[in-house]
Amino acid sequence: MKKRIFLSPPDMSGKEQEYIAEAFESNYIAPLGPFVNRFEESICNYTKAPYALALSSATAGLHLALRVLGVGEGDIVLTSSFTFIGSVNAILYERATPLFVDSDKSWNISPTLLRKAIALAPKKPKALIITHLYGQMAKIEEIVTICKEHNIYLIEDAAESLGASFGAKQSGIFGDLGVYSFNGNKILSTSGGGMLVSSNKEWIDKASFLSTQAKEPYLHYEHKEYGYNYRLSNILSAIGVAQMEVLDQRVARKREIFNLYKQELSDIKEISFMPEIQGSRGNRWLTTLTFEKTNPLKIIEALEENNIESRPLWKPMHLQPLFANALQVSDGYSEKLFQKGLCLPSGTAMKNRDIIDICTIIKKNIE
Ligand SMILES: *Cc1c(COP(=O)(O)O)cnc(C)c1O
Repeated sequence: MKKRIFLSPPDMSGKEQEYIAEAFESNYIAPLGPFVNRFEESICNYTKAPYALALSSATAGLHLALRVLGVGEGDIVLTSSFTFIGSVNAILYERATPLFVDSDKSWNISPTLLRKAIALAPKKPKALIITHLYGQMAKIEEIVTICKEHNIYLIEDAAESLGASFGAKQSGIFGDLGVYSFNGNKILSTSGGGMLVSSNKEWIDKASFLSTQAKEPYLHYEHKEYGYNYRLSNILSAIGVAQMEVLDQRVARKREIFNLYKQELSDIKEISFMPEIQGSRGNRWLTTLTFEKTNPLKIIEALEENNIESRPLWKPMHLQPLFANALQVSDGYSEKLFQKGLCLPSGTAMKNRDIIDICTIIKKNIE
């Protein structure tokens, strides 16, 4: 059997083991140490975020973001509906109420529906969590304007979009707080990990305090608040430092993979790819597309027969059984994307030959 082609497997740079060995030699086998600082500095240097905090996951980052903003029971948090559950779980951890907002042609959150959601909300929403889906930038300038107008905190879920930019600015630094993910399937991986960024030092300091069990500064461990054990280990941070060194190459390769798919499938008129909004440069974490007529499940099956992984697009949150009674403003756009869409293998180590073979299978199986 041919070696399985995965959607987006980790792609190590080659430096990781050297840095891990260095961490072992120093015996910093702990959730603190020099590589944690270096990993945070590398994120600040790359994204120009003034402050960063390395965490065990992006989900932990979103949770801490809500905690430092004081979001709690009964507060309304607006959020993209067309996203992964990791984006919204933190809202539930804090017993706040999500209000789901549908997408527009950008596939990302619709500014028009966002305004509508704010107007229709039973009370003034406290925060908005937006996702830059599949590494492509949301209409961030309009969203920032709307949040400022209504005095709503903006959190960017940039879990999928590390390295994407709008104008000269990186995804993740437009909002009050932003998070990146280093889970196994993301553009960079530490096997698991996340980063919280902000230009507000107090928030990052507070998040750091909460991420290490909320210990007051006494020798005997004094506690006035409850916290979490959310810090990233020095070992995993060593992997992160090595991964950050190749981020530009990884973005370039992801974009190359997208362009090759687009070129190879250009004859098929019923295919549309996820767009890139004007003025932005996505990281094309996954190449995603929709069919007009063909059932994407048929393509998924055909690829699976060749030991190739592909998947439907995210199922919108407002259609999930978990959120059957949740507040939502939707016009069916993301539902249509979900029915017609497909994520294609986009691992940065994959061969161009594999992409061409995948396109051949797709062409053979369209209706
Ligand atoms: C992966 C992902 C997350 C969660 O990231 P973890 O680091 O695994 O917690 C959150 N939101 C989106 C959009 C994601 O794709």
